[in-house]
Amino acid sequence: MRIKAVFLFFVFLLLGCVTTPESGRRALVLTSEAEEAEMGRQAYAEVLSKERVANNPKWNSLLQRVGQRIAAAARKPGYGWEFKLIESKEKNAFCLPGGKVAVYTGIMTVFENEAQMAAVIGHEVAHATARHGGQRITVALGAQLGMTALGAVVGGEDSKEKQVLLAALGLGANVGAILPFSRSNETEADEIGLVYTARAGYDPREASRFWEKFAKESGGAPPTFLSTHPSSSSRQENLRNRVGSVMGEYDRSPKYGTGERI
Ligand SMILES: [Zn+2]
Repeated sequence: MRIKAVFLFFVFLLLGCVTTPESGRRALVLTSEAEEAEMGRQAYAEVLSKERVANNPKWNSLLQRVGQRIAAAARKPGYGWEFKLIESKEKNAFCLPGGKVAVYTGIMTVFENEAQMAAVIGHEVAHATARHGGQRITVALGAQLGMTALGAVVGGEDSKEKQVLLAALGLGANVGAILPFSRSNETEADEIGLVYTARAGYDPREASRFWEKFAKESGGAPPTFLSTHPSSSSRQENLRNRVGSVMGEYDRSPKYGTGERI
């Protein structure tokens, strides 16, 4: 009986294991990518119903251009990619499972150029392609409750389970508030995001430059994005150290350099 239980446990782990893109790491995810995408789609609709979409034409066209290039680099044609600019002083950005991206106008003023914007979008997209939302759901709820609670979200009820799931996707109970990912998820998103930035044709060296500048400028009261994406010196160092490994991707790309000044 015990042997059977142990056997089933391993079968379960095997079924639930996914390999994350670019990094090739294994992770336990018990939700399917389609289920996560459905949750992402609903959470995105909820965010958009509560926030104001910004109509700054220059920033919007930049976001569409950079977003589409990062999406192509992520090689997920099955995703329902969307890129919205949200009117808010918050210095923030996120990507929900299935490719639903939001960039807040507050962070646009921090970007010096298109490549820095690409680095942030690449990082956020990496959280989605590496299934970090699904990993959090798996950890937070466990398989059984996860599957039951999934019905609650799809059913649209404003239940406690729904709040737990939204939190696992990265959104706070107060929609728009973004919850921090674990440090290992952050490091992985940095690494995969760097590959996407380079492959999309943007100078990957701008990633560590952005974090350095952002951390320096935000000394004192850290903005939301910095509290969920702590910019420690080890993070910047890790990004600088890894740039060499993505220069091959950059060489093969259309090479837009740092792109347009923002
Ligand atoms: Zn992150």
